[in-house]
Amino acid sequence: MAAFKAAPPIPGSMQDRTFTALAEAGDDVTVAGWVHEVRDLGGIAFLILRDKAGKIQVKFEKDELDDELVETGLSVHRESVIRVSGSVEEEPRAPTGVEVTPDTLEVVAEADPELPLDPSGKVDAELSTRLDNRTLDLRKDEPKAIFEIRAAVLQAVREAFRDHGSTEINTPKIVATGTEGGTELFPITYFGQEAFMNQSPQLFKQLMVGSGLERVFEIGPIFRAEEHNTPRHLNEATSIDFESAFIDADGAMDVLEAVVTAAYEGVWENAQPELEALDRADDFTVPDGEFERIPYEEIIEMVNATGALDEQLVWGDDLPTEAEKALGEELGEHYFITNWPSEVKPFYIKDTDDDPAVSTGFDLMHPRLELVSGGQREHRYEKLIAGFEQQGLDPEAFEYYTKMFRYGMPPHAGWGLGAERLIMTMLDLDNIREAVIFPRDRQRLSP
Ligand code: ATP
Ligand code: MG
Repeated sequence: MAAFKAAPPIPGSMQDRTFTALAEAGDDVTVAGWVHEVRDLGGIAFLILRDKAGKIQVKFEKDELDDELVETGLSVHRESVIRVSGSVEEEPRAPTGVEVTPDTLEVVAEADPELPLDPSGKVDAELSTRLDNRTLDLRKDEPKAIFEIRAAVLQAVREAFRDHGSTEINTPKIVATGTEGGTELFPITYFGQEAFMNQSPQLFKQLMVGSGLERVFEIGPIFRAEEHNTPRHLNEATSIDFESAFIDADGAMDVLEAVVTAAYEGVWENAQPELEALDRADDFTVPDGEFERIPYEEIIEMVNATGALDEQLVWGDDLPTEAEKALGEELGEHYFITNWPSEVKPFYIKDTDDDPAVSTGFDLMHPRLELVSGGQREHRYEKLIAGFEQQGLDPEAFEYYTKMFRYGMPPHAGWGLGAERLIMTMLDLDNIREAVIFPRDRQRLSP
């Protein structure tokens, strides 16, 4: 496997080290990291040292080395942090083709002999044990690769937004009223007053399209008290949000295609060793940048034609999971469901001009599940207020929001993309929790 990326040194005494992947035959190096494994074969012994970039073999020819150095090196517990200085020589049988003969070996931080999880990966651990011990879990190549890929995704997404002239914003996560209200909100106490954790930056980002910023994005947490524990829902997720003045739903879908494609490209270009670690390098495909846009009305017919459901869907029904699955199998690639019935979409989604029963709301689907919801927004004050009332929400409670629609709010559109769902589908992970370092779900509030 190709080496992971080494980090550039930051000047300072502790940086006097060479990353394992950069150690070449003929060098004198100091390497520092964790004891991955010790193999004592009698006259000769090997210690495998692991760091961010990979692993390197340290060789102990007992007759030729100082007794104390051999004793220290071979009695150190697995996962202790050590620092080794020595010379690098070629050794085709070693994992990286080179090995270090040590001159000095220092135990920097000892690990307990009993570990809650085996980072060498020889013993499998349950997901819950792994999540309880993420520090140790992320010493393993596969989980670590997921988070390097996550970082590559976020970097690529940011660059794509910037290329589209969007300004990155950060909006409050403690709010007086939820975006859409309802039972999905987490209440908190704010100086004796009831407040909530925000379920979406929707209303704030809309307010910014009417500001001088016009086109904005945010990558930040959303909080949802989801009713069920599922492999695709978190109670704290990361939402990638986009909103722009003077675009319609098609414009928003164009930007979404570009952003999703950029995320795949960013991973392909910058995270090959990580894809290899996950065994995905051979079947990873960057989408071609255009996803089919299928109106809801046609989607209903397609689902019914598959025969996957016992009961036929009718206009106005939401898509059950089996319907999404059947469609995913048939289409085999990302696709949009456009023009959802107005009644299943929130109040801030604009209806189409020709038919108030049909909205501009769209979802981007991965064959496995929903990735994104978006649409053109209602920017006309009277219609917006009417929408609140239709949805049983009190417009007064949202006055900070509705008021701004009286002072020059341009037509606008946007969407929200679940970062973990993007990573989960990109890497074909079974459980969304694999894509979060410290997930929050019904059972998990710590670490
Ligand atoms: P679903 O129907 O799949 O529960 P939703 O329609 O309630 O999702 P939206 O409010 O449309 O979700 O949020 C936009 C996007 O944010 C979703 O398409 C999804 O990618 C992501 N998202 C929403 N809720 C969660 C969650 N609980 N955990 C992870 N991601 C989520
Ligand atoms: Mg949705």
